[in-house]
Formats: sequence, structure tokens, C-alpha cells
Amino acid sequence: MQPIKISPATLAKLGKLGIQHRADLLLHLPLRYEDETHLEPIATLQPGITAQVQGIITHSEIAFRPRRTLVCRLEDSSGEIYLRFLNFYPSQQKQLAEGKQIRAIGEVRTGYNGLEMIHPKCRAVDEDTPLQQSLTPIYSTTAGLSQTMLRKLVANAIETLPQVDTLPSALLNKLALGEFSDCIRLLHNPSPDISAMTLEDRSHAAWRRIKFDELLAQQLSMRMYHRERDKCVAPQLADHRQLTMRLMKKLPFALTQAQLRTFSEISLDLAQPHPMQRLLLGDVGSGKTIVAALAALQAIENGYQVALLSPTEILAEQHFIKLREWLEPLDITPVWLSGSLKKKDKLLAAEKIASGTTLLAVGTHALFQEQISFHKLGLAIVDEQHKFGVQQRLALRNKGAEPHQLMMSATPIPRTLAMSYYADLDVSVIDELPPGRTAVITKLVSDERREEVISRVRAACMAGQQAYWVCPLIDESEALQLQTALETFQMLSKTFPDLRVGLVHGKLDNAEKMRVMAAFKSNELQLLVATTVIEVGVDVPNASLMVIDHAERMGLAQLHQLRGRVGRGAAQSLCILLYQQPLSEMARARLKIIFESNDGFAIAQHDLRLRGPGELLGARQSGVPLLRFADINTDEDLLNQARQVADEMLNDFPDAARAHLQRWMANKHDYFHV
Ligand code: ADP
Ligand code: MG
Repeated sequence: MQPIKISPATLAKLGKLGIQHRADLLLHLPLRYEDETHLEPIATLQPGITAQVQGIITHSEIAFRPRRTLVCRLEDSSGEIYLRFLNFYPSQQKQLAEGKQIRAIGEVRTGYNGLEMIHPKCRAVDEDTPLQQSLTPIYSTTAGLSQTMLRKLVANAIETLPQVDTLPSALLNKLALGEFSDCIRLLHNPSPDISAMTLEDRSHAAWRRIKFDELLAQQLSMRMYHRERDKCVAPQLADHRQLTMRLMKKLPFALTQAQLRTFSEISLDLAQPHPMQRLLLGDVGSGKTIVAALAALQAIENGYQVALLSPTEILAEQHFIKLREWLEPLDITPVWLSGSLKKKDKLLAAEKIASGTTLLAVGTHALFQEQISFHKLGLAIVDEQHKFGVQQRLALRNKGAEPHQLMMSATPIPRTLAMSYYADLDVSVIDELPPGRTAVITKLVSDERREEVISRVRAACMAGQQAYWVCPLIDESEALQLQTALETFQMLSKTFPDLRVGLVHGKLDNAEKMRVMAAFKSNELQLLVATTVIEVGVDVPNASLMVIDHAERMGLAQLHQLRGRVGRGAAQSLCILLYQQPLSEMARARLKIIFESNDGFAIAQHDLRLRGPGELLGARQSGVPLLRFADINTDEDLLNQARQVADEMLNDFPDAARAHLQRWMANKHDYFHV
């Protein structure tokens, strides 16, 4: 057989399906199948099943009620069924004229005159037209590209292309997986004796082989990034245990086991001559900042500079204050790079960083990217940054070797997601909260009881507590969000003339934002009306009550982050989720989860089930291909195997690894060159 010639028009359509090379056709696997391998006697049909029948059209007419419809009666020796078409061409009407012999496949349902099929797939046949030998594949397709055409192209690819097994036979045997080419053939044209169920839910051994291959390709490419990095040079920052020990001794608390463990993981990495890229994961309030401070000191005691980058000024300032408190007694003065600094002061700070007189600089990502150049940067700490791309290099100007990189996130990543999409990074998890925290009590309250909630806030504030009132997101519109925050602020100020109420939102200028936060922190303000700008990192231990207005509009991670702003002190904290009915099914599911769980990892796992990895990955997705066949919720066993095999293959079978990536990722050029 010869490869079919493909016209440029068809090529363009295939491109829309992600098929760029002939070999990609092999991996364009069916969405589902139709069984055209046998005929059902019409008398045996039951509503709800999909079946193929054959018979003679004994009646054909166009009915006009309720609307123009072609109605045909098909009879075989056992019985009759009606075929109905709401949209049809004159040619179809001709094909379905009385006396014609027809084979029809479709879903059986109960109609006006007995059983019927709506828009069945029909074709004219003879008495001896053969039946299909295998199940008929249904592919995902695009306008202008018929199933028939796709089937022809795929069948041709199967017959004319080599389908070498990219897995070395040693591994294949060990893993007890089927041969690639057998699996491909089977999945495109399964025999009718194969259980439809295992094909449908993709649990069939052939599907498992394909899913394994896909996961393996993903692991191989992520591990390759990891290895690439090991070829770069970074300063070796050994743990001299000078400054780090001194800080630990001065702390008013003892580090948790999890903090000690994660710091020692980081500490070992810093001593390596290759750049670290480690993600430090810990639920809100788990104490990531002190771990970051220790990492910073290890770099500093080696004479290297450290940059701490935060997404917002509020966060950056909090870090600055914390670090100054911890490090000044060790004679280290951090430099604060704020957007609200006067030009002169900014230049001065930049000068100190460029000359190397300052060893620790704290600021927002944007500021560092602007005009700052380092003398000898050894470590960059990136806080609450969910946008790190795969193999993303920090755009920090630095004279020396590549810096080590520590990323911190309070959005817990489910284990499988981390294993799958973050396999290029090393991950440390703080899986324990400092002792003495009391869990936040969460209440779901319908909007009808808003007045009650308002009285409750008042009572709490009068009793000396502090509270947040978080205003909702409105259709992603910042202007509307701002307006609601303003109105809520005015309403609450009027309702509580004897309370000091503050307002913070994204549109305030930085100095004003800082002033409000400082006033809240020092208990000058008792009630803080806020937009979701306080979502990450804000730390005011005396605040023990939070109301989240229109909680039904917020995502799980966001709700968890917001709630994490209370429960930071000794007092019992309460989070009230005000919601408006009617709730969508999704919103109801989210509120139930947040009500039932305080554990960020458990919540993230639910989020993964509700929304799938694409949404959770956010911006990271740009560099990472989403999985087409495997599902990290159900294929964890395959993911585990793929992870192990990836390293084995890179070490022992590098050519096979290359061939495997070529097969699965030949299209993903941007993926290889981010
Ligand atoms: P996050 O991980 O959310 O960034 P932080 O680093 O802001 O958490 O820490 C939350 C609070 O807990 C801070 O006030 C911090 O000083 C305090 N903290 C951190 N570690 C401990 C510990 N081991 N014992 C007691 N308190 C701690
Ligand atoms: Mg933090």
C-alpha cells in the first residue's frame, strides 16, 4: 500500500486537530465506537440502546406537525420502527423512498407511533452487503473533515507507517505492557468481542499502554529540563551554620519538624554547584517565611546576595518588616524596593544592590525586572508566584553565575498534579502547622440573614476583636468590584458609627494601601472592608472574624486562602461565608468542600476533581502540554510507573527516550524551546 496524498486543504483541517505529521494520525485515537458488526431484529429493540437494523422502507412522508419532518417506516421480518429526520436534503428523501433497502444505526426511543430513531445514520444496502468486521471508530473531527475521510487516513497511516516500539523490550516485559503497534491497531479497529465498557472507560490494556506512553513522554521531557539545569553552574553555598544557627536561637518559637526538614532539603541544594529550582509548598500559615529567611542566611553567610520577590507591595512590605525584625539583630539590613519610594531613594537602593553593599533586597517582581542589577546574586526567593513557567529563567540581571531559585506557594498542589506537571522542579512540603493554632470555624449563611451577620460583626468588634469583610468578584470587572467595595464600606461605616472601619482595594495607591494595612495591624481600625487583594499572605493575628460576601462566586483555592487570613492568633476564629441563592451545582459543591475541610491539600485534591488540571495549572499550562488520554485522578499507578521508567530510560536507553519524545511531542516545538 502507498501513503495517500493529502491535499493542502485537508492538511489545514488536520492541523486544527493537532495532527501535523502522518505519524500523528496513529495517535489520533477514537473518542468512542459504534457497533456495525451485526444486525438486531427490530422486534427485539428496547428504548435507550443504540442498535443497527436493516429492512425495507414501507412508508415515507413529510409531516408538518410539530414541524417539518421526514418520517419513514422501516420493516424487517420481525417488526417495524420509525426513522425521523428534522433536517434533511432532497437526496436523503430520495434515498429513503418506499421500497428501498436500508441499514440504519441510531439510538432507539419511544415515539408517537411506537419505537423510533431520530436522525439515524442510514445507508442503502443489498441483501448481501457485508457487515463491518470490527467496531467503527468515531474520531474527534472538525468542519469539512468527514469521519469517512479520517478513517481512511488513519487506516492508511496504520498500513504504511512503521510503528516501532519505543519502549525497550526489557522494560516492556518488566511492565507487562502490550506492544505499541498491537495496541494502536486494536484501538482504531477493535474486534466486537472486546468489552465495550473497557474501551469506553479506557481501562482496557491497550488504552493503558497508550496512557502510559503519554505520561512517560511528559515525564521524560520534564526530567530532561531537570537534567539540563544540572549542567548550569551556580555558586556553591555551603551551610556554615553561622547565621542560620544564630537566627534559630533567637526565634521566640521552635521550628516544626516540617520546617526543619524542608530547610535541610533546601540547604543541601544550595551547596550544590547547580542552580536549585525548588518549590516550597505549605498551607497558609504553615510558616514558609522563616524557612525562606534561613535559606537567605545560608546564601548571605557565603557572601552572596539574596532577592525576595513578591507579587504585591502589601506582601513585599510584610516580608520586609518580618525579615528586618529577624535579621537586624544579626547586623543584616534588608533593602526595601517599593514602587512608592521617591526616585532618589529608589536610585540609592538600586546602587546598593548593584555595588553589593546590600545583601538582601525585598520588593515586587515588577520592580526587580525594571532597573535593578545585582552584583553577586546567589539566591532568588519567589513568593506566592503561581505563574512560574516550565524552565522559566528569572529575568534578574546578575553579574555572577546563575542564582538558585526557591519558589513558595500557599496553594497546595495535589500530589499527582505535582508529580505530573511539576516534575521539572524539586518539591518540599511543609505538611504541619505550628502548634497552638485553633482551627477556624466555618459557617455557611444565606444572604437572607445578612442583618444577623452584620450584628455579629459589630458584637465581635465591640468585644475587642478585629474583622475582615471581603467583597466579591463581579464578573471579573474591576470597576464593579471597586464600586461594591466602596458601597459596602459606606454602608458599614454608617451602620457602625462607633467603630473604626477601613477600606483596602487594588486601586488604592501603594502608600495608601500600606497605611490602611498598618492601621489595621496596629488595631487602629477594627473592621477592614477589603477586596480580594488580601487573598495572599496578609498576617494580622488579632483578626479573628471574616465575612466573605458572595462566597458562591469564588473559587476553592481563593476561599481557602482568604479564610487563612484568620485563625492566626490564639483566639477562636470564625469565617462566615455569605452566599446568595440559587446556587449552581458547582458553587454548591465548592461551598460544601470548604465548609467540611480546613486542609489545603484535601481542598486542592477536590479542586482537581471538580475542575481538572487545566484550570489549576493556570499560567503554567502555557509550557506544559495537557494530557489527552491519561487522567491524573484515575491513572496514578501509571503515573508512578512512568516516573520511575523515565529516569531509567534517560540513563540506560537515551536513544529510545529520544524516539519516544519524538513520537509524542514532535509538534510541541514551543514546549521544547520555552
Ligand atoms: P505562610 O506559610 O502562610 O507564609 P508565615 O510564614 O507567614 O506563614 O507564618 C505564619 C505565622 O506563624 C507567622 O506569624 C510566623 O511568625 C509564625 N510561625 C512560623 N513558624 C512558627 C513555629 N514553628 N511556631 C510558632 N509560630 C510560627
Ligand atoms: Mg507567606
